[in-house]
Amino acid sequence: MFSRVVLKLSGEALMGDEPYGIDPARMAAIARQVHDAHEREVDVAIVVGAGNIFRGLQGMAIGMDRATADYMGMIATMLNALAIQDALEKLGLTTRVQSAIAMQEVAEPYIRRRAIRHLEKRRIVIFAGGTGNPFFTTDTTAALRALEIGAECILMAKNAVEGVLSADPRVDPSATLIPRISHMEAIERGLKVMDTTALTLCMDNGLPIFVFNMGDERNIGRLLEGERIGTMVVTESPE
Ligand code: UDP
Repeated sequence: MFSRVVLKLSGEALMGDEPYGIDPARMAAIARQVHDAHEREVDVAIVVGAGNIFRGLQGMAIGMDRATADYMGMIATMLNALAIQDALEKLGLTTRVQSAIAMQEVAEPYIRRRAIRHLEKRRIVIFAGGTGNPFFTTDTTAALRALEIGAECILMAKNAVEGVLSADPRVDPSATLIPRISHMEAIERGLKVMDTTALTLCMDNGLPIFVFNMGDERNIGRLLEGERIGTMVVTESPE
């Protein structure tokens, strides 16, 4: 069904049940799912967040300059990227980390054509460093990189939630899972798919997003087989 996808792993998806940082069991489970996708002949590029380590807004809350705090967040994504690389290579996959912020001792610089070439050679590419710009997020990075490398969709891995819900279940216990929604409606209703900048970029370029629970190890396989689980965010073309 898909030949190339971007998997967005938020920092929280790596955290599992830990209060901070990386849960090794969760990391191994993610690696198995990526391995499974790779076996299905799907090109996988990963965009990784850093919410399990540091977010720019946390820095602001303690009085830091926003841009400086955002750079800290971007650098924190590199820690996660290297941990993912390690977990994937333990399963025998070949990987490359590309960073939007130069860190030449540990990662290649982000070069679009080179990333595509790696994917063609069946390497898993891990994008670190976000977009390289403060005031953005790794959700926007996922949208941007997916469009740049010609991915057919973004797989948005969530921690302990099945997809996009109609309301925050902590506030409204009657909240239900939304199986399908348009980008515009998700923006208008302020639903927690991705931030608005990222959603708008996906909408303007007709890029579908599949939001799913990473906690169930079968879910990526199901999505790649065309099974509709979680939430599909899609905008039909007018014709
Ligand atoms: N960030 C940034 N520009 C980017 C991507 C990320 O400034 O292009 C910073 C921002 O401070 C953000 C942090 O890096 O809070 C971690 O990324 P994000 O919050 O997207 O991680 P996630 O929520 O996916 O774990």
